[in-house]
Amino acid sequence: LFAGRVDFVMGAVSLKTLPGADRPEVAFAGRSNVGKSSLVNALTGRKTLARTSNTPGRTQELNYFEMGMEMDTPAYLVDLPGYGYAKIERKKVNAWTRLVKDYLRGRPNLRRVLLLIDSRHGLKENDREIMHMLDEAAVNYQIVLTKLDKLKVADREKIVKKTQEDAKKFIACHPIIMATSSEKGWGLQELRAEI
Ligand code: GDP
Repeated sequence: LFAGRVDFVMGAVSLKTLPGADRPEVAFAGRSNVGKSSLVNALTGRKTLARTSNTPGRTQELNYFEMGMEMDTPAYLVDLPGYGYAKIERKKVNAWTRLVKDYLRGRPNLRRVLLLIDSRHGLKENDREIMHMLDEAAVNYQIVLTKLDKLKVADREKIVKKTQEDAKKFIACHPIIMATSSEKGWGLQELRAEI
């Protein structure tokens, strides 16, 4: 079980500089501003770990953290660069795609990608593109809805059901949708257990 402790290991701009694939790893992916830094911070209880509101689309790095596990050897938590920022030019999108595709295809110890989706927006076209990319790479992935506190109570269950239906169209997508709010602390314990 993930004990909620993490330490920064390194930021990698290319696959050549990744740490050895000697332990399991879980990667976090999502559109810029989806709440990824906030979720990683909330999961680990550290405010300064992942920088929130960093310039969208700027960090093209795979950020590696070591997760302390209870009764087990440490695992890696990988923070993938955000995607889908409107103002970013084509060249950078291509660089992102190349880096992430190579990573997904070439990382044998990658056990699961947690794909973060803003619960107010649901799956966008570029989320679906990533899901197809993950299907093709045969990487196990799971959708994590973020910012659930921003929805009216009546809409929360609706978005979970809708996302569950959408997820059925994808081969490698885990059937269980996680629902979270970093702000309220909702779903964090369940997500830690899943990790
Ligand atoms: P990132 O770009 O994916 O790392 O997104 P951030 O973690 O920087 O969050 C983007 C914005 O959403 C910030 O203004 C956060 O305060 C806000 N945010 C993130 N998580 C939550 C949440 O669970 N609830 C609410 N209400 N706001 C959130």
